[in-house]
Amino acid sequence: MNPVDYLRISLIDRCNFRCQYCMPEGAELDYIFKQDLLRDEEILTLIKEIFIPLGFRKFRLTGGEPLLRPNVVNIVKEIASLPETQDLAMTTNGFLLAQMAEELYEAGLRRINISLDSLSPEKFDSIIGNRGKSRWQQTWEGIQEAYRVGFNPLKLNVVVIPGINDGEVLDLAALTINQNWHVRFIEFMPIGNPELFGSQAWIPSADLRQWISDRWGLVESKITGNGPADIFQIPGAKGTLGFISQMSECFCDRCNRVRLSADGWLRPCLLNETGQIDLKTSLRQGVDLAELRQRVSQLLTIKAEINFKDRVSGTQSGIYTRTMSQIGG
Ligand code: SAM
Ligand code: SF4
Repeated sequence: MNPVDYLRISLIDRCNFRCQYCMPEGAELDYIFKQDLLRDEEILTLIKEIFIPLGFRKFRLTGGEPLLRPNVVNIVKEIASLPETQDLAMTTNGFLLAQMAEELYEAGLRRINISLDSLSPEKFDSIIGNRGKSRWQQTWEGIQEAYRVGFNPLKLNVVVIPGINDGEVLDLAALTINQNWHVRFIEFMPIGNPELFGSQAWIPSADLRQWISDRWGLVESKITGNGPADIFQIPGAKGTLGFISQMSECFCDRCNRVRLSADGWLRPCLLNETGQIDLKTSLRQGVDLAELRQRVSQLLTIKAEINFKDRVSGTQSGIYTRTMSQIGG
């Protein structure tokens, strides 16, 4: 079991996209009320008084769409300036990056993962549930701008959904050949939208590797990440290909992370809330910070017994109805 030293912080559960697999148009989501969101200073207190003393050194800001959080640049600056912070990253849909990448970089953000499920503007718009003016170009410009200001390597996340974007795996993989971009293919999880998740709903990473290998060859990369991705490279390529295979291979024993939702619940696993703690209410009730640290420390101890796969198969339909945007993906 790895030491747990990585906290994913959801800054907000709302989003400016409606991805079919996450927040499909028309889905009735219970958004968090503004007064129930963790305040900026509460996030900082939790990091400084609870997580850093317990050994946490890596933080990722996510959501919903984290760039919709008011004051996000300042939150980045505060976390980046803590001497204990070794790694501060963000996962974003990239739509607002063309205007925000530079100030985020200046505030101290150094790593960014941008979701991009298609290189075709029409398909992209259909995946993100957009019926108005295409949003692909602005997202693409956000990616270019992030790379220009210094987010290097730049990571692109692709959720592969059969019948929707699996035909683009080679085109997306080809982005790594001439530039130091890291494209990461994520197995689609049975979360969020039951209608999309039929019997053939996810494609094992091994199949994707085979397709890529048949086209260009594929070698294991010398670069290893600190996350769950298995990293490969097209021979001679500048960038890498990561495969996140949480459906086909259980990597719970390598998991080094816990998640803080935008309303302050600390959960030990993406899909398993066993032992979760309502940190926001505890803070607002004035619970002693040493006692809170103790509770969190206990949660870290039971995390070793918690399993993602059991949780998926343990739901009645095998489909988990909370969305990634609600959990903090
Ligand atoms: N809005 C940001 C974004 O899209 O990058 C951050 C939050 S989003 C919930 C984080 C990641 O979760 C994205 O890469 C998204 O593709 C992924 N995701 C959402 N629902 C998923 C699902 N059912 N299976 C696999 N990945 C999913
Ligand atoms: Fe929004 Fe990200 Fe969910 Fe898409 S995956 S709806 S961009 S939170």
